[in-house]
Order: sequence, then C-alpha cells, then structure tokens
Amino acid sequence: MQAMDAADSAPAAYADVRFCAACGGVLRPDVPPGDDRLRAVCSLCRRVTYFNPRPVAMAVIERGGRVLLARRAIEPGYGRWTCPGGFAELGETPEQTAERETREECGLRVRIGAQLGAFARSSAAVVVLAFRAWPLERRAPRASAETLEVRWFAPDAIPWDQIAFDSTAEALQAWLARRRARRARPSQRRT
Ligand SMILES: [Zn+2]
Repeated sequence: MQAMDAADSAPAAYADVRFCAACGGVLRPDVPPGDDRLRAVCSLCRRVTYFNPRPVAMAVIERGGRVLLARRAIEPGYGRWTCPGGFAELGETPEQTAERETREECGLRVRIGAQLGAFARSSAAVVVLAFRAWPLERRAPRASAETLEVRWFAPDAIPWDQIAFDSTAEALQAWLARRRARRARPSQRRT
C-alpha cells in the first residue's frame, strides 16, 4: 500500500480532522478488519473516525411563478446565489431545518411541501435535501447576516452562471421540471 495520510480517507470538508476524539491519537488511514475501504484509524486506540455526508435541507420557495434566491454573504460561494438552507440541527426533521433556515436567512415564514430530490455534494461532504415551499406571509423577504441580498426570480431570469453550488442548480432544475410537468397536466393543480 502506498504511503498516505489520513486526509486521503477524508473529504476536503474533514481535512482538518487529524486526531482521535476519544484519546487524541493521530489518525492514520487503514482498512479496519471486516471493512472494505480506507478509514481514519487512531494510531493509539484503533478507534475509527467515520467521515460521512451531513444532511443539509434547502427550501425552493415559489410565489407567483417566481423562485426566491439569496446571495451569500459567507464562504463558500460568497456573492453567489442559492436557495435558503443549512445544516440540520439534532432533533430536527429536514422540513423543520428548511423552514428555520428560511426564517433565519430571509426573514420569511414558509410552508414546506414535497421533497424535490436529494443532491450529493461530495466535496463538502453534504447531501442536500431540497423541498418545495411557499411563503406564509406577504411581506418582502430581507437579507440577514448570512445573505447580501434576497430576490424573487422568474424561471427565465435565474442567474445560472452565478449559482453557488451544483446541488442548488440541480434542485432548481428539478423545480422547473416539476413545474413543466404540472403545466402539462392542467387537471392537477399541484404535484
Ligand atoms: Zn484514539
């Protein structure tokens, strides 16, 4: 086996995790007994530190045929557009996460609807769960500490070249596909 360091078994998002949480020993890549891939194994106590994707919930919010996008005031993706969303807190359902993040980032209360899909972004070790959503209030959304600007976009005005993440673009494509499918079946108002 080639010489490697623990980062080889970890995605970039976990590159700074170098020590065992149980004993402080240095993590080294190894294939534990019964496993089939490199893991970060403690050189002292042999405890395995697993690097798994973390769930992010996102709200694709629509009103009058337009979708709400927020321009990020934080890295990664500073200055680029995405839908409100963020990491799930312990004890939350993904729907609750999407609702809370929208309130925090855009000052808007929303009703969370059907899931649009799950979109993996392995470089950040996240899986984005995207939900359709609708505002529960008429007031204009507002920017927060995490957002430079919040704006409604018509489908043909979505700034595709300034979308922060592939997962956001994929979720928006799924939303557009859902809209097209609904229009093709006028008897069904909502999918
Ligand atoms: Zn250890």
